[in-house]
Amino acid sequence: MGKLLVVGSVALDSVKTPFGEVTDALGGSATFFCTAASYFTDVQLVAVVGEDFPPEHLAVLQRDRVDLNGLERRPGRTFRWRGEYSYKLNEAKTLDTQLNVFETFRPTVPESYRTPSQLFLANIDPELQLMVLSQVQRPSIVALDTMNFWIDGKIGALRKVLKEADILIINDGEAQALGDNRNLVQVSRIIRSFGPRTLIIKRGEYGVAMFHGDAMFALPAYPLDDLKDPTGAGDSFAGGFMGFLASASSSDEQSLRQAVVYGSVMASFAVQSFSVDRLAALTDEDIKKRYIEFSRFTTF
Ligand code: AMP
Repeated sequence: MGKLLVVGSVALDSVKTPFGEVTDALGGSATFFCTAASYFTDVQLVAVVGEDFPPEHLAVLQRDRVDLNGLERRPGRTFRWRGEYSYKLNEAKTLDTQLNVFETFRPTVPESYRTPSQLFLANIDPELQLMVLSQVQRPSIVALDTMNFWIDGKIGALRKVLKEADILIINDGEAQALGDNRNLVQVSRIIRSFGPRTLIIKRGEYGVAMFHGDAMFALPAYPLDDLKDPTGAGDSFAGGFMGFLASASSSDEQSLRQAVVYGSVMASFAVQSFSVDRLAALTDEDIKKRYIEFSRFTTF
């Protein structure tokens, strides 16, 4: 049986928020995604790190349900991202992006990864996303994340990936840039004309909106009074969302809605600490409890 495959970044993040700061902490789109998804299903990772990647970070990535055979270590420095959040926590200000080993990385998907049940193309160079797509048998769901860095820098390659994608998960500012329009309802039509039949727009502390067929589903974010660092919220959302769909082996409207709730649950844990500190230390009980609370405060 195929598994949930992800390609994305494994990073050293230096992040400053009004509540503290960290230097060279474990981060990256694939890191948050794998950690969140591993509570629901088996995950296979394709990514690269440099010689400087610390063993203690590797130990955090090593989880029972995460297969790291596709994580390459190559000569050079690990990808680094430096960002800052003001009290307006919805938007990261990127101060520095160092691609380092990603600059020359050409992913080789291991033989045992080539028939995935689902594929998540996490935020990474769209040309690398295309390379991974071309090496696998097409799974039942291909989902995709991206960011302004690639919308501005590699729109051609990104449009090619979009053509192949079933689901696009991006934040509101990125959706507006990609759709070249400010109105999110119009944007949902424009972006879906590029390929994906389902569009999920993350709106930070305001929650998430899913456009699928003629339907829309919206959910607030989980209300927190101890938010520390929004980094990784989007990837953790995607991990919970895709992980749940993989475990449910379904992608009908009802499953998609439940997956949005599980995604929001995982994002809420991610932002309660820096790096994956909280996200990596959950129990199934913690997740279930928050899922039920979501259902309580959204029922009317
Ligand atoms: P988010 O879920 O959107 O907050 O994603 C945050 C993660 O994205 C951080 O841990 C960064 O290491 C990673 N990241 C930032 N910029 C890029 C980029 N250009 N390509 C790939 N990953 C990135």
